[in-house]
Amino acid sequence: MATATLTIDLDAIAANWQALDRHSAPGVQTAAVVKADAYGLGIDRVAPALARAGARRFFVAVAEEGARLRQVLGPGPQIGILGGHMAGDTEMIHDLDLTPMLNSLQQVTRHLESLPGHPFGIQLDTGMNRLGMEEAEWRAVAPIVLEARPELLMSHLACADEPDHPMNAAQLASFRRMTDGLGIPRSFAATGGILLGPDYHFDLTRPGIGLYGGQPFAQAHPAVTLSLPVIQTREVQAGEAVGYSCTWVADRPSTIATLSAGYADGLPRTLSNKVHLWDGDTPVPLIGRVSMDLITADVSHMPDIPRTLDILGPHQGVDDLAAIGGTIGYEILTALGPRYGRRYLERRNGGQA
Ligand SMILES: *Cc1c(COP(=O)(O)O)cnc(C)c1O
Repeated sequence: MATATLTIDLDAIAANWQALDRHSAPGVQTAAVVKADAYGLGIDRVAPALARAGARRFFVAVAEEGARLRQVLGPGPQIGILGGHMAGDTEMIHDLDLTPMLNSLQQVTRHLESLPGHPFGIQLDTGMNRLGMEEAEWRAVAPIVLEARPELLMSHLACADEPDHPMNAAQLASFRRMTDGLGIPRSFAATGGILLGPDYHFDLTRPGIGLYGGQPFAQAHPAVTLSLPVIQTREVQAGEAVGYSCTWVADRPSTIATLSAGYADGLPRTLSNKVHLWDGDTPVPLIGRVSMDLITADVSHMPDIPRTLDILGPHQGVDDLAAIGGTIGYEILTALGPRYGRRYLERRNGGQA
């Protein structure tokens, strides 16, 4: 087989949700963020596993993702749309019972006029300047909005992965100013915010990356293994080059393995000549450029050429790969390509809360 195998551990994802749920007080609800196809891991399998673990509220970025998620989960769980109520989404929001987080006066007007009585939340901007109503705008519309009873008032932290960043406290103060005393449930913390402590938890937390084994949730169980098949091996002489632009040149006779996966599968080209693959505990250097469909590795030190090598596994997680490639674990996960054969691990009775 010439395609790589991405193994996704649903039990690890369920355990990560439960661990993040335990980080907040019992009265604080823990949602699950499953935008971008559950961070690239497959919403069809990941969302039901999270529901079995105990998640009752989910968030996605856009209404189309919410529609897909409703088909996967069926009626019951609440599905929040972080992008709010966009023009053209009204029917989908109504028919599939989605809960938009309204981001602007325009969205508030659209929602209250087109779907009066339909559940919604409000997203407030506390300093990230990306989505949500700013303080002055909120003060102006709050009386009308509050009369319509939002399910949730939420905001998002810009620097939660840096616990000492002054932005965290500044955003917290701003969120409190805008929402204290209103008697509406509040949500402020994603994964990073949960780890900042109880002041940041309010009524509902919204972890994403931590569920999938990524930083800043250091105790997360890794959720993915990626095994690449060796599809050819060859001997090269000292002085011969391997790959595009001849960036690697053998300094001695070497055995080179060619593996099936490249930047089109989400392995950043910036990993060229920098990263190791793994055969169990044995590191194997990736040499030469990462090309679109293929990478090359120096297997000269291996007595037997293995059928596969791991680029994500126990010795190298998504954040390790990200650090080497100059990106973040989120981007490694969400770039994992559609060509991989996907295998899901789940114990038969597993994941029950
Ligand atoms: C993506 C996102 C989350 C989840 O963030 P993580 O850092 O992955 O835990 C929560 N809330 C909002 C608004 C988001 O955009």
